[in-house]
Amino acid sequence: MREKVAIIGAGTSGLIAARDLAKYGIATTVYDQKTKLGYPQKASGIISINGLKTLGIGYSKAVTNTLYGANIHAGNAMMRVHSKVPQAHILDRVILNDICCAESEKEGAVVRKGVQVDSDMLDSLHKDNVIVGADGPVSLVARHFSLGSIKKNILTYKADFEVSVERKEVVDLFFDNRISPKFFAWMCPNSKDVLEVGIGVDSKFGNSKSAFDKFIKQEYVLRRIGKARVIDGYASMIPMQTARRVVDEKREVLLVGDAAGQVKPTTGGGIVFGGNAAMMAARTIRDHVREGSSLKAYERQFRKNFGMELMLHRAIRGAYANFDVRGIEFMIRMSKMFGLENFLSKHGDMDRPSLMLKRFLLRGLVK
Ligand SMILES: Cc1cc2nc3c(=O)[nH]c(=O)nc-3n(C[C@H](O)[C@H](O)[C@H](O)COP(=O)(O)OP(=O)(O)OC[C@H]3O[C@@H](n4cnc5c(N)ncnc54)[C@H](O)[C@@H]3O)c2cc1C
Repeated sequence: MREKVAIIGAGTSGLIAARDLAKYGIATTVYDQKTKLGYPQKASGIISINGLKTLGIGYSKAVTNTLYGANIHAGNAMMRVHSKVPQAHILDRVILNDICCAESEKEGAVVRKGVQVDSDMLDSLHKDNVIVGADGPVSLVARHFSLGSIKKNILTYKADFEVSVERKEVVDLFFDNRISPKFFAWMCPNSKDVLEVGIGVDSKFGNSKSAFDKFIKQEYVLRRIGKARVIDGYASMIPMQTARRVVDEKREVLLVGDAAGQVKPTTGGGIVFGGNAAMMAARTIRDHVREGSSLKAYERQFRKNFGMELMLHRAIRGAYANFDVRGIEFMIRMSKMFGLENFLSKHGDMDRPSLMLKRFLLRGLVK
């Protein structure tokens, strides 16, 4: 049995796994092709405050803004989901990665930056290391060990604009299948003077950059960005299904985070699910190394904790992805009539729709 761990990928998932493994006294090395982790910032950093608390990261220096809610737009309809208490932080992803890196090194993990792992290196590491694939949505580890590639993806493009943001406590989400097929576009105040504009499109239905160019020409976007200077713009990808297998017990290989497709299908948020999965993977590897227990416990534990949530997220996504803009506009109007706007403002939960569902069902009983 291998007693050391090699983690491929120093994103949040890989670094959280490294932190916990090192804390458990297991020799752990993380490899990342980047010399500056998290850079360039191709992804956004909206993370629920409740979700962040579960990860145990000292994240406060990475916070650039705090959100109280969202405006959900489709056609001429808008639903305001605004809470009285802060719901999510926006984090600078480079600073977040630096914090996670420092925390894992403090526990004794070794982080080797600027090292691109290829198949030969993977074979060589695999001789005496348990392998954790935390190498993102196009995972070499998943391919190399035939754990199955992820075929459903959302292609994204996002750019930051230098503008003075009027309301920095809400994010705006726009649903229109003609512009962002089967996903949505967003305007997110990353700080009081930076507005992030982004879009996602189903990979089968188009190109994210041309969708983005179309989106920023819409009148409601032009009103917000005017002639503002674009700071940067990047394309990327979000996995939209979980990997067929996330553990190869015999060969002692595990996948975590985007490599395993541990992402909320509604919004594409993956830091909370991926980070929690990384912590579960670290515990499972500890028990495997110390007591010889099965690595499959990781997969079972993840499904037990997040299986229901993933199912509900998929159902919600199915509801918006399969309607045109008029259908979603109608749904928003009906939802408002039935009091869903107020309900979500009070009881919304970005990560765990099962909690909302429970509260919704209980509402009738406690009235
Ligand atoms: C546009 C966009 C917006 C998003 N918005 C949010 C959001 O608001 N909130 C949220 O929670 N999530 C969001 N996400 C999702 C989130 O970014 C991911 O779920 C999260 O980054 C996954 O972390 P990870 O550690 O699994 O993978 P990654 O962050 O992708 O890290 C993988 C690492 O592996 C390294 N790597 C890959 N291959 C190799 C190799 N062969 N050798 C060495 N190193 C390698 C890469 O350099 C990278 O550093 C968004 C994603 C996108 C694209």
